[in-house]
Amino acid sequence: MILGKTREHWYDSYPLIRQLVALQPTTWFNPNAAPVEQALGDVGLTAADVADASARLSRFAPYLQRAFPQTAASQGIIESDIIPVPHLQQALSERYQQPLPGNLWLKRDSHLPISGSIKARGGIYEVLKHAEDLALAAGLLTLDDDYASLDSDQARAFFGQYKIAVGSTGNLGMSIGIMGAALGFQVTVHMSADARQWKKDTLRSHGVTVIEYASDYSVAVAQGRQQAEADPTCHFVDDENSINLFLGYSVAAERLKKQLAAAHITVDAQHPLFVYLPCGVGGAPGGVAFGLKLAFGDAVHCLFAEPTHSPCMLLGVYTGLHDQVSVQDFGIDNVTAADGLAVGRASGFVGRAMQRLLDGFYTVSDEEMYRLLALMEHSEGQRLEPSALAGVPGITRVLADSQGYWQRAGLNSQNMAQATHLVWATGGNRVPNNEMEAYLAKGRELLSKG
Ligand SMILES: *Cc1c(COP(=O)(O)O)cnc(C)c1O
Repeated sequence: MILGKTREHWYDSYPLIRQLVALQPTTWFNPNAAPVEQALGDVGLTAADVADASARLSRFAPYLQRAFPQTAASQGIIESDIIPVPHLQQALSERYQQPLPGNLWLKRDSHLPISGSIKARGGIYEVLKHAEDLALAAGLLTLDDDYASLDSDQARAFFGQYKIAVGSTGNLGMSIGIMGAALGFQVTVHMSADARQWKKDTLRSHGVTVIEYASDYSVAVAQGRQQAEADPTCHFVDDENSINLFLGYSVAAERLKKQLAAAHITVDAQHPLFVYLPCGVGGAPGGVAFGLKLAFGDAVHCLFAEPTHSPCMLLGVYTGLHDQVSVQDFGIDNVTAADGLAVGRASGFVGRAMQRLLDGFYTVSDEEMYRLLALMEHSEGQRLEPSALAGVPGITRVLADSQGYWQRAGLNSQNMAQATHLVWATGGNRVPNNEMEAYLAKGRELLSKG
């Protein structure tokens, strides 16, 4: 029994669940997707909230530039570039034996400074927001000050009175830990069993306390929450519900809009933009997608990508059960090599806020992520971690679609010929060389077998 009903009952009401349980790669276009004008109100946040987050990141830019010299080139703004990936597009067309009109691009959050993953957006933003709140309340800072002053022993001693806790499969912990420790906070990261050793080692080298669990992500988060509840000086970064994480991610969209304009890429009703976002608990892709819908309206189409072993957001939105259901309830094991995506229960906040703004969801097997990892390296020289490849097959799912998604969205083949497809590459450049070589070897071997 699952939530009072038999498994067969769920299969009859929601036939795709059967396919998910069989771990078959699945694509689902959201029949409840609604025009931005109607659905944006569901989120409970507005363009003003995104602008506020963006302004806060600008206030912190002088600090970041000083504390993290790798951000100096971008004046303390943590941003990644976009690059065209035509050779990958060609290779995909051959691999899937499918014409792929339009232009394929890559958003390289894999190369974001400081932590090398998309978590350098939301995770770092939430730490900065918390630091600003504390410093303003204590009179250590005013909004008009030069925040570079926070890179001082005095500021670090002040923040040293406070703690930050977070549960993570790895990358969120990296961002929170590195940023929190640099400001002087006492940071504890509660790591799930699947977290990589090198991520734990990196955090410890920054003075972060890492607590390891034999269980999965949900347990690590629950432990972090419990630690923080018992201690009023401890701020818990709640990956399942945090509005600040979400807003930190959302700022990406206005910056992307400028990058596309600079690359002379038009996005409008006749020139659609399709964006493929790897999804774990949902905060990162949800926040980015929210920003994208604000920035581009109905011209942008957002699809979430999940591992076949962890399709938590697809399951939650498809059934409308959101965080009431986990993939484990249906016997799906939530075991995947895709760090950051090994989440069995999606964020209820993101699922409910975004259920009419997201255009589609699909799953990708671990083997396919490894093959695409090797294909990406071979065709474009980009080295990404497995999760970051989940976005890559999105273009093939949209264009092969027999459910008629793009036609229903009012697009014709002329529009699709001038569409832009953007794969959000969510992590990779901090992966140690030996680990990357092992990923590549595995991907090449799988690729050689088909
Ligand atoms: C965290 C993460 C994601 C997904 O973000 P969520 O907020 O968990 O949905 C995707 N890719 C990578 C590499 C990540 O670390």
